[in-house]
Amino acid sequence: MRFLHTLIYISLALFSSRVLGEDVDPVVPKSDVARMRKIVINSLYSHQEIFIRELVSNANDAIEKLRLTALTDKSVWDGNPLNITIKTVKDEDGKGGHIIISDTGIGMSPEELATNLGTLAKSGTSDFLARAESQDGTGNGNLIGAFGLGFYSSFLVADHVTVASIPPKTSQNPEPIQHIFSSAADDTTFEIFPDPRGNILGRGTEITLYLKKDALEYLEEAKIQELVNKHSSYSSSFPIYLYTTR
Ligand code: ADP
Ligand code: MG
Repeated sequence: MRFLHTLIYISLALFSSRVLGEDVDPVVPKSDVARMRKIVINSLYSHQEIFIRELVSNANDAIEKLRLTALTDKSVWDGNPLNITIKTVKDEDGKGGHIIISDTGIGMSPEELATNLGTLAKSGTSDFLARAESQDGTGNGNLIGAFGLGFYSSFLVADHVTVASIPPKTSQNPEPIQHIFSSAADDTTFEIFPDPRGNILGRGTEITLYLKKDALEYLEEAKIQELVNKHSSYSSSFPIYLYTTR
């Protein structure tokens, strides 16, 4: 039970928000938040691989949302392909690497990046926490299998995560600007800023996971292929393309 209390506590205190220049005080001191976040991540260590299922399911939801929105507002979808791309990139020195998961879905404005990814209230994590609380005695592994940790599962494998995103052009928002949400596992803040690369996505979301040293196996083609087949191939209605570097 102590583990569950820790999870609930962390849900209240996980992020202090430094968004668009606006500072909000964290609920508990930062050092405690960082410590609790570590406890959660370490407790779920053996479930590291679920990050792929969570991020692919989010990508799938985002594309589905675009498709549905386009039924009533044709301007949001220009007819470009609807798909998900997973790319692994090894550092040249062989000591690290990152995974990029992109989708051509509905994307997020800077405000949506802050509320959807920066606060746990909106995230699948809060669902997970509610279940964890009400299902005393159920293994955490089962809970993760059934409900997931959402976007937050990124931190099981990454110590730094960036999310670049841009919503579709609409009559109300004719010139959307691509923004980046950036957050580190051992920090309690996040930042949102215009992407210095410009609007390179056109539409959708690109999540970059800078892998921890103990998660570098996910850079291997065979491993990532196995996980996509195991967790995601049946749950995605859109094509998933996989690119790996050797
Ligand atoms: P859940 O999927 O259960 O809502 P998550 O933590 O997985 O919880 O995601 C939180 C929210 O962030 C989603 O509901 C969605 O609004 C937004 N989101 C996450 N990933 C994406 C994405 N790839 N494209 C657009 N929105 C996203
Ligand atoms: Mg989700």
